[in-house]
Amino acid sequence: MGRGTLELVSDICKKLGFSKTAFVVSGEKTMDIAGRHVIELLEQAGMKVGHILVSSPTLWNVRAVEMKLKRRKPRLVLGVGGGAKIDVAKLSSARCGIPYFSIPTTASHDGIASPLASIKGLAKPFSAMAQSPMAIIADTDVIIKSSQRLTASGCGDVIAKVTAVRDWRLAHKAKGEYYGAYAASLALMSAKLVMENANLIKPNDEEGLRVLLEALISCGVAMAIAGSSRPGSGAEHMFSHALDSVAPNSALHGEQCGVGTIMMAYLYGLDWKRIRDKLKTVGAPTNAGELGIKPDNIIQALVKAPEVRPERYTILQEKPLDKDSARKLAEATEVI
Ligand SMILES: [Zn+2]
Repeated sequence: MGRGTLELVSDICKKLGFSKTAFVVSGEKTMDIAGRHVIELLEQAGMKVGHILVSSPTLWNVRAVEMKLKRRKPRLVLGVGGGAKIDVAKLSSARCGIPYFSIPTTASHDGIASPLASIKGLAKPFSAMAQSPMAIIADTDVIIKSSQRLTASGCGDVIAKVTAVRDWRLAHKAKGEYYGAYAASLALMSAKLVMENANLIKPNDEEGLRVLLEALISCGVAMAIAGSSRPGSGAEHMFSHALDSVAPNSALHGEQCGVGTIMMAYLYGLDWKRIRDKLKTVGAPTNAGELGIKPDNIIQALVKAPEVRPERYTILQEKPLDKDSARKLAEATEVI
């Protein structure tokens, strides 16, 4: 990670034993931003490089990439783009048993480093286990040009670890679920560092962006260590997944998780105001209006959230919400 790291792509390939064939998964815009340059660099190093442009992270697109991979049989897949392109590259390469590199062009969520992929059309509405990247090349010169909204959303996804880890600990105590203190500490430390450095996370600030990228990568590593999304995803994520079904395509994943974290922190008796203020500092939404979501949909999502993942024990299983108590929670935290 750092300035100009994209230029190192062929060296990193060589170091890790890839020198013949590769396949780039990118999007229309991200091809211009970084994908084409990656292909040029690899070709200059004598590699044969195929590519595909994908749009949304759907099972349909994952299958389309898989078909290409089966035909071309590359040794390596490189996902170049925002979260969606990387998720498609991650799942399709995992299904074909091919290692993959993550080359993010935004810092919008922890999928840039986690082994999980968020794909529409799978049997369940939450992320599926795929594989961890063999390398992550995060060029801050590229990512700094993406919109602050995406960066702020990435902060929301990291700050969400405050309640995700609480839920994990709760499940350990209440249900005897496996709990890994190292993975939990790593995720919590990421959230802590992003909150402490929130004032640095602003447009055109490389230092702040590095803090966020390190945090996102550490969260991905925490999930890889735990072997599940537990350190990174609790009730605040279930709220976000429920919002995706009651108010589709309204706000970004990390934005929704950030607002969910404010409310779950309240249920845990944590300092929810500090969480809200840190989200505000980085420019992330902290209420329904800023998310562009109707208050009623917030309430619906809160009530529906535990159904998204009934086997995952969280504060919402411990303290179930009905319409009334959900409204009270959203009002108390000024989300509605
Ligand atoms: Zn997330």
